[in-house]
Amino acid sequence: MSKISSYPTNFIRQIINKDLAEGVHKIVRTRFPPEPNGYLHIGHAKSICLNFSIAQEYKGKCHLRFDDTNPTKENTEFIESIKRDITWLGFQWDGKVRYSSDYFEKQYQYAIELIQKNLAYVDELSSHLIREYRGTLTAPGKNSPYRNRSIRDNLKLFSQMRNGEISEGDACLRAKINMTSPFIILRDPVLYRIKFEEHHQTGKKWCIYPMYDFAHCISDALEGITHSLCTLEFQDNRRLYNWILNNINISAHPQQYEFSRLNLQYTIISKRHLNRLVTENIVEGWDDPRILTIAGMRRRGYTATSIREFCRRIGVTKKENIINMETLESCIREELNAHAPRVMAIINPIKVLIKNLPSNYEEILNIPYYPKKNELGTRSVPFTQEIYIDSADFQEEEQKDYKRLSLGGEVRLRYAYVMKAESVERDAQGNIIFLCCSCDMSTMKKNPSDGRKIKGVIHWVSAKYALVAEFRLYERLFNSSNPLTTDNFIKELNPNSLVIKHGFIEPSMHNAKPSLPYQFEREGYFCADNVHSSSTNLVFNRIVGLRNTWVKINA
Ligand code: ATP
Ligand code: MG
Repeated sequence: MSKISSYPTNFIRQIINKDLAEGVHKIVRTRFPPEPNGYLHIGHAKSICLNFSIAQEYKGKCHLRFDDTNPTKENTEFIESIKRDITWLGFQWDGKVRYSSDYFEKQYQYAIELIQKNLAYVDELSSHLIREYRGTLTAPGKNSPYRNRSIRDNLKLFSQMRNGEISEGDACLRAKINMTSPFIILRDPVLYRIKFEEHHQTGKKWCIYPMYDFAHCISDALEGITHSLCTLEFQDNRRLYNWILNNINISAHPQQYEFSRLNLQYTIISKRHLNRLVTENIVEGWDDPRILTIAGMRRRGYTATSIREFCRRIGVTKKENIINMETLESCIREELNAHAPRVMAIINPIKVLIKNLPSNYEEILNIPYYPKKNELGTRSVPFTQEIYIDSADFQEEEQKDYKRLSLGGEVRLRYAYVMKAESVERDAQGNIIFLCCSCDMSTMKKNPSDGRKIKGVIHWVSAKYALVAEFRLYERLFNSSNPLTTDNFIKELNPNSLVIKHGFIEPSMHNAKPSLPYQFEREGYFCADNVHSSSTNLVFNRIVGLRNTWVKINA
């Protein structure tokens, strides 16, 4: 496992400290239990960082266990993506990959034990009636007419369920707890349902599958998990977790603790909703750089360290909250500001002809990747008679305080000469075709000798040698800061969440690698797209801008 900068303490660590001090446990064992029904997202990263870093810090173990009790929605593509993402985040699970389905036979035997203790029964109410009999928060539930079958009948029916002799929906196994409990979860929860569905791990072996609540606590106990960490919506389920473990003959009894889920503004991170964006082709796939799946973030150019740092900063509490996007972006921005090499790219090109240079003029400039740090590497950047600058760096009218180029004014070309705009060439429609400029050839690495003050510095690339490149500029995916609170989150999608621009980049970037982020000077942090980019078709994703723009949006 890779080293993590230390995590601040939190209520879970305090519980663990106490358990260790009191000898309740000698070794800490946690688990990360994803359901393989989608790709991992930044919310899962919070849980991964918590579970794995605890194991790391306390020299314990963290298991990866797929919670695979619902074959209808699960598949091996999701399993492989989850393993890949955890590894990429810098964590290694203990031992082999585990599955809830590894324990189907044992779980089945525990279900029989509950039946034998008269604590479970086969119900033949339809799912609709089960719901109706369950009652509400204010009204108690009522007993199913099948609740008092004999143990013998229950055993027989349960075995018929297993043997495929009962149709889907015609029967299920329920715990016999209390239909009037104030906790709805304890009103005879369903433990097993029939599903004639092939399973990615067990094939056709089973046609009954345990429910999450039944499978989870037993899997935790069988694996010797000490602290079973989950999100707050499972708070009530803890009562069922404990009820099951208290009523079967199993030696371990892990304790469940809940923390608040991660929520982020201007996005959605629930798998169900992400799945909709993917299946309805609203985004390019589970790795679309606009969504906060781990695969999407990796493709966009986020690093694993920046995601871990984000999880460290947000901490772990029991309080529901919604994190500001800037908190996430500042983690990657700070890292890239310190570590990303800098190069020049022109996103909105406008051509410049430098009139006082011959048409074959070529000068190779040796430019450092990190300003003033030549020892960290340099690259060759050709300077020629024709260059591109960004159209945002030019305006015709001279204006006080305008630090870029205007007609008659001067700017410094980054790492090169001071340049003056002389005139504008237009086509018949009046559109600018190019700018005519001149360079003061005595100003390489020096100020003009006559004391002229040059206020601005702009970036540029050689028109002759620059490479054609596509730039993908991402904005927030939703216009609403909390899209799921609106009637229809699809209506809140930002139509400009992806803007594609075609421009140029300096030739040193001919083999830009997706996993290597760069700062494009004055533009932001970018990295080559791992799907569309190749040496013959450079495509760059903007990871994040140079400055926080959320403050403005939120105001
Ligand atoms: P989703 O709501 O996105 O479908 P889930 O909880 O169903 O998520 P699981 O695969 O069951 O997804 O989750 C695996 C683990 O990740 C669980 O322990 C869950 O509590 C945790 N987890 C999921 N989403 C978040 C989140 N937003 N913040 C923190 N932990 C999360
Ligand atoms: Mg789930």
